[in-house]
Amino acid sequence: MSDQPGTNKINKQADLLVVNHLKKYFPVKTGVLKRVSGHLLAVDDVSFSVKSGETLGLVGESGCGKTTIGRTILRLTEPTAGSVNFDGKEVFDLKGDALKALRRDMQIIFQDPYASLDPRLRIGNSVMEGLEIHKIGNKQDRYQMAVDMLKKVGLEDYHSRRYPHEFSGGQRQRIGIARALTLKPRFIVCDEPVSALDVSIQSQVLNILKDLQDEFGLTYLFIAHNLGVVEHISNRVAVMYLGKMVELADRDELFRSPLHPYTQALMSAIPIPNPKLKRERIILKGDVPSPLNPPTGCRFHPRCPIAVAECALKEPPFVEKKPGHSVACWLA
Ligand code: SF4
Repeated sequence: MSDQPGTNKINKQADLLVVNHLKKYFPVKTGVLKRVSGHLLAVDDVSFSVKSGETLGLVGESGCGKTTIGRTILRLTEPTAGSVNFDGKEVFDLKGDALKALRRDMQIIFQDPYASLDPRLRIGNSVMEGLEIHKIGNKQDRYQMAVDMLKKVGLEDYHSRRYPHEFSGGQRQRIGIARALTLKPRFIVCDEPVSALDVSIQSQVLNILKDLQDEFGLTYLFIAHNLGVVEHISNRVAVMYLGKMVELADRDELFRSPLHPYTQALMSAIPIPNPKLKRERIILKGDVPSPLNPPTGCRFHPRCPIAVAECALKEPPFVEKKPGHSVACWLA
């Protein structure tokens, strides 16, 4: 048949991915000569790890750098500085066949799967594209593997013969998941996979991701702008603000006692299903500042409801305040 790898073994203790001091600055070019006039600090010195078999939720407002982190880890964009180690391999040192092999192990699910599907290609052919690139099995094997994967995400045989425009948003996201999974990767960046879907469909897609994680031993970096979404799928949650990680903790610990004022504000915006219970909403003043010219000191200080004078002068370090619970705030 094929040389497709088997189900991944889960070692819940070991770090599968270690990100160290990652930076990604995009040059800003202006004028007729397109001279570099500044840099957009999309990701600015971020470190974290993801254990094998776990889901790390990465949350923050649009433009905070979370998607850039996901894309840089996968080498879809090159880093400015820092390192990413995946299962003992330095990702940024890999080239040629070694990089190709890594791409088989690390996949991505996009927010808008429609944009990554060729409208002229039947879904079965789209789903088997990765298998073709990696020369796995013959054409018939590949098609069968694509159909099998479509069934795993709740679609039927006949869907493989249809075109992308014939599917709903939720079905397209299932196709996006099937595409990412055909190569049996070990690690998947889920980049806002349910943000564009109706709430009723969101939970179906999250359940599929959870079931597939159990079946294949997958490790997820789950990116979302909504804390409510990551709560359901994450083991640990990291909060980003303007290119920096500001808090990281186990899911239950973070939701029980958030330490950073930004996390507290995000949490106050999560709707409570019980109409008898009320949560006081923390409204942050102003908009997120530009990552082209971030504020001095703590980047959150212009919007922080409890800022003191020191906050504008000195950047708070990201430190562990309780076991497994780190935060960057002078007052936490
Ligand atoms: Fe607010 Fe200061 Fe803490 Fe930053 S360091 S979050 S400005 S209190």
